Amino acid sequence: MIRLERHLRRDIRAEGEAAYPDECCGILLGTVDARDTRTVAKLRPVVNAREAGERYHRFRMEADDILRAERLARSEGLDILGFYHSHPDQPAVPSGYDREYALPWYSYVIVAVLRGKARSMTFWTLAEDRSRFLRERSSADVSGLRPEPRRGA
Ligand SMILES: [Zn+2]
Repeated sequence: MIRLERHLRRDIRAEGEAAYPDECCGILLGTVDARDTRTVAKLRPVVNAREAGERYHRFRMEADDILRAERLARSEGLDILGFYHSHPDQPAVPSGYDREYALPWYSYVIVAVLRGKARSMTFWTLAEDRSRFLRERSSADVSGLRPEPRRGA
């Protein structure tokens, strides 16, 4: 389960719209609790390092950018939780390319940007055997590390 506050979702949407018609990409930094709930604390936008003619449907992050994000995360007591990117004029569903470059454990956020306007946002993790992406549960409401109130309790 991933927790991504509303203002961070808004930032990802804005990045996707700003990068349109190319893909934006970035890194999710945050914390993981004992029940594997991931809480995103901040976003680290990264330059899409694909060549100009490919950026509309592919993204790549330079190893240096990931290392810098790793260092930033560590200095703030955070971890890299995963990655986000946009799908210009495509549904927010991982592509075969996305799966090829994805790693188990990490969270993947995809926002569809249709005609320059951000639409649906989806959340995924890669299956352990890397055969497919699985939907990850998400929540817009972050209440620190307190447990969620039980319904009807
Ligand atoms: Zn993609």
